[in-house]
Amino acid sequence: MKEEMIKLEPKKRMKGVEKSLFKKFAGYCRKKSPWILHLGASGCNGCSIEILAALTPKYDVERFGILAKGSPRHSDILIIEGPVNVKMKERLKTIYQQMPDPKYVIAFGTCPISKGVFYDCYNVVGPLDKIIPVDVYVPGCPPKPEALIQAIVKIMEKM
Ligand code: SF4
Repeated sequence: MKEEMIKLEPKKRMKGVEKSLFKKFAGYCRKKSPWILHLGASGCNGCSIEILAALTPKYDVERFGILAKGSPRHSDILIIEGPVNVKMKERLKTIYQQMPDPKYVIAFGTCPISKGVFYDCYNVVGPLDKIIPVDVYVPGCPPKPEALIQAIVKIMEKM
């Protein structure tokens, strides 16, 4: 029994080394190519257009390795635009929970930051940072695509 344990120890040690190497490698990849998820809470689509402009050939965020994904389980950064309404609140929490750690959130536009022009709507809750943690705030109504790129770069520095 004792011999068996002694034999297993180096293997276990190797597994530990492999694990930490893999973690380092995954962190390096994440920093070089963060995957983003765009979520429209319930805005006017002004911010959506600016986010889409950042993804399309004029601004082309892919050249920096930033890829748009369709699933929270594959995403590192969640970009939220529009005010959070009552129906969206729980869905937003679920989507945030589905993202793997470490995860980051960008509040894009005045609406998620302070409810913006929808501040006194009966169905609007928030601001966003009262519902989920926010890492970077991008003010504006709507902010420009350059502001989104700058926000993602700030998160890449944090990673
Ligand atoms: S911040 Fe302005 S542009 Fe963006 S969703 Fe709100 S109202 Fe629309």
